[in-house]
Amino acid sequence: MGVARAHERVSDMRLDFLHKASNSIGETQAVVYVEDLTIRTMTGSARGTAENPGRNVRQKAGLNRSILSRGWGLFLSLLEYKLSRRGGRLVRVDPRNTSRTCSACGHVSPENRKTQEAFVWVACGHAENADANAAKNILGAGQARSACSEAKTSESAA
Ligand SMILES: [Zn+2]
Repeated sequence: MGVARAHERVSDMRLDFLHKASNSIGETQAVVYVEDLTIRTMTGSARGTAENPGRNVRQKAGLNRSILSRGWGLFLSLLEYKLSRRGGRLVRVDPRNTSRTCSACGHVSPENRKTQEAFVWVACGHAENADANAAKNILGAGQARSACSEAKTSESAA
């Protein structure tokens, strides 16, 4: 198999994966909340500065590469289309502090994050998987935003 042909196969597999993943979510959920991250922000964030080098640069670089190679932006476009086709929607949420905020009590501190996976909140002792905690924060922020824009819509309709 030639190199060009192999590349084509990989990109077909990637597209197939993105379609399956967006179908499984887009056809079962009404509203999906995601962090409003641009690929640029995600790839730049781990680098840090000379005075304050980014932590876990190596892990983040690996993650960024895998996100880029799997086509995160394309995934969101497909998902948004599939949700809207069924009357659902994709809500993009400000990513600020979603990984530093305690989903139980709302306390914000970078010290909450002990490792890439484990969070133990310094204020209330709440402990949870870091991704699960961030997901709750994203959901909460998205729902607050939705409630706010719905209130505005009904006000202007009245
Ligand atoms: Zn807490």
